[in-house]
Amino acid sequence: MSILSIKKATHLRGRRVLVRVDFNVPMKGKKIVDDTRLRASVPTIQYLLGNGAKVILVTHVGRPRGRYAAALSVAPLAKRLKEMLGVKELKVVELKKALHTKISDISMLENIRFYSGEEKNDRAFAKQLASLADMFVLDGFAVAHREAASVCGVARLLPSYAGILLEKEITGLDRVMKRAKKPFVLALGGAKMETKLPVMRKFLPSVSALLVGGGIVNTMLKARGYGVGGSLVDRAFLAEALRMSRNKKIIFPNDVIVGVRSGKKYRHVLLQKKPHEVCKKREEILDVGPATMRRYAGYIKKARTLVWNGAMGYFEQPPYHHATLAMARLVASRSKGEAFGVIGGGETVQVMEMTGMSEYVDLVSTGGGAMLEYLAGKKLPGIEALKKH
Ligand code: ADP
Ligand code: MG
Repeated sequence: MSILSIKKATHLRGRRVLVRVDFNVPMKGKKIVDDTRLRASVPTIQYLLGNGAKVILVTHVGRPRGRYAAALSVAPLAKRLKEMLGVKELKVVELKKALHTKISDISMLENIRFYSGEEKNDRAFAKQLASLADMFVLDGFAVAHREAASVCGVARLLPSYAGILLEKEITGLDRVMKRAKKPFVLALGGAKMETKLPVMRKFLPSVSALLVGGGIVNTMLKARGYGVGGSLVDRAFLAEALRMSRNKKIIFPNDVIVGVRSGKKYRHVLLQKKPHEVCKKREEILDVGPATMRRYAGYIKKARTLVWNGAMGYFEQPPYHHATLAMARLVASRSKGEAFGVIGGGETVQVMEMTGMSEYVDLVSTGGGAMLEYLAGKKLPGIEALKKH
């Protein structure tokens, strides 16, 4: 079963195309912190404009939960995108207004989560959205796992296509899932154990090595009886963490950095084979150590396929940023050539941007949750909804 690429669509000239993007970028007030997701959808938008289509962009930003919130307007996003595209005009329009006015060459609907019908995937709301356009394009891979009106609802009502970004993401992820060259090295960190475990379960049989960092390490140490003080631990998964930690493919840290969150007090701790106290009650394990990264580097340097998701430590606060930045540089250095390299996840992409090396990675997935679900083998509703034609 395949989905149609927008590049296969004929007669784009003069057609109104509703494009669901994911411009839910990190913001500080009205300032955009990282515009990776905006840039990622530019090829699709330019392709449509270049072929004479009229583009109506749809995105959400933040969690307004079905109500208008001035602070969550998409206006700053439209402004930045207008500069990127070099177009004369890119207005933000309210859905109600859009229904009754003539549309311009390119416009952006106001935050779609201002409307309660969006997240409920309300049929009448999806119909309203569909009435704006002749065709639908899903480009925002990062929302493809959401059963929302502007993702799945409209796709079932209009002729629907995959955008260039969505296609690129699916192709890249399929490559690591179906045709990964060995050695295949997967590195997983981050905070939310429950989103990482399905990926670990799915990939353990096929990977050559699984390098772990972040909260996964803390949870595994705790499960094995080490004293981890106030470290971030996912208690719900202690039993499974213990079982998994016995798997020989999981390469475990041999040193960690423990300290206080502020970064004012920290120290290096070597992990012994037998459980012991790693940190005091008021301390936390906040990064994996340099010896560990040296060991991990050995695996990465031999990899032919590389996938990384999740910070190795509490990188937002120095000095706990070292392992995560090292991981980013190692993965980027080995990608686009020796290995096929894929990274994804909100914070992960942010860190790769910090190193300035994103362009050296084969696929920088814009999806966090969506990427993990796709890699875990789940069917994403947004992609399924495109499969009917
Ligand atoms: P991603 O969004 O990249 O998939 P997650 O959302 O799972 O990753 O987790 C990223 C967050 O986890 C980061 O904000 C980071 O600060 C935090 N983190 C990682 N390791 C630790 C740790 N040892 N202690 C506390 N927080 C951590
Ligand atoms: Mg995250």
